[in-house]
Amino acid sequence: MDHKGRQLRLQSALPALRLDALLITHLPNIRYLSGFTGSAGALLVSKAGSVFFADGRYTAQARAEVKAAKIVIASKAPLATAAEWLSARQQNGRRAIPFKVGIEGEHMTVAARSLLAGILPSTFRLRPAPPLVEKARMVKDNDEIGCIRSAVILGASLFARALEVIRPGVREAEVASEMEYAARKAGAQQMSFTTIIASGERSALPHGRASQAAIPGQAFVVCDFGVILSGYCSDMTRTVYVGRPSAEARGVYQAVKQAQQAAVDAVRPGISVGEVDRAARKSLQKSGLAKYFTHSTGHGVGLEIHEAPRVAAGQTEILQPGMVITIEPGVYVPGRWGVRIEDMVVVTEHGCEVLTPTSKELVAI
Ligand code: ZN
Ligand code: ZN
Repeated sequence: MDHKGRQLRLQSALPALRLDALLITHLPNIRYLSGFTGSAGALLVSKAGSVFFADGRYTAQARAEVKAAKIVIASKAPLATAAEWLSARQQNGRRAIPFKVGIEGEHMTVAARSLLAGILPSTFRLRPAPPLVEKARMVKDNDEIGCIRSAVILGASLFARALEVIRPGVREAEVASEMEYAARKAGAQQMSFTTIIASGERSALPHGRASQAAIPGQAFVVCDFGVILSGYCSDMTRTVYVGRPSAEARGVYQAVKQAQQAAVDAVRPGISVGEVDRAARKSLQKSGLAKYFTHSTGHGVGLEIHEAPRVAAGQTEILQPGMVITIEPGVYVPGRWGVRIEDMVVVTEHGCEVLTPTSKELVAI
């Protein structure tokens, strides 16, 4: 991973924002910039270089993982260490004019900001910075796409296990746990989110986590799941039918499948994410089901399961080669049923490549 290049690009963005340094506290951003995978740390990026702060638990891990940054280990919380390090630096007399430190306003708690302000002398200014790292993370490099491909393949392999387990009378939680066990055995670090197995009426809940409910006969089962491998997330949804689907059930499924394909077909560089969302909604309008599509069409995926860009109505972010997003329209009729189909795609020079290898034909069990 090109940690040095990522830090240099971030450094070069600071003058235009009139920032002297950026204090990174969001762990996925720290990992992206430095390679550190631990659960506590802070990274200061400035023109003078980068400094990584951690406590004694991470001495060995920081030395092994952190790239392109000086490492400072102290017994205090990393944020306090960073503030003291900055204060000492100023007391050395290197600076008399205000030193402007950007903070990640989307991630820093009020308490953490107070702690910083309490330690830093009054010549320091804390300024919420725009989400620079999140923006950089939207476009994946080849190393990242390689990691994502591996996560997607492992994640998709769990669907075969789901098909073996899903039967009328089997509890949703049992299906989820068999998939999660298979994931760990196959090498996944963990699931990328709580597995969704939602059957029967529960399939109309877009985020119906696997419950103790038994899967009924004659029902849709929405399976939405993913794994983390080498730090990168996968995310996919398939909806299966238990029993013999009626013509109406098959029609709903086909409408979602067509909408999903219409959105995939819309993905290419230069188009806005809002237009991709519109393609899915327009397709569902033809079958009168658009009013049951109650969430956005997709989201970016990478070190986090949900990251920029949001693929939603009114969003103006323009797709670029290397962006990895999900395409996941769904139809949810309260009290009856729900269907969702989700793939991950990577934007290419001329269109997109669907990463998820799994068939989208309706499977009846
Ligand atoms: Zn999903
Ligand atoms: Zn998703």
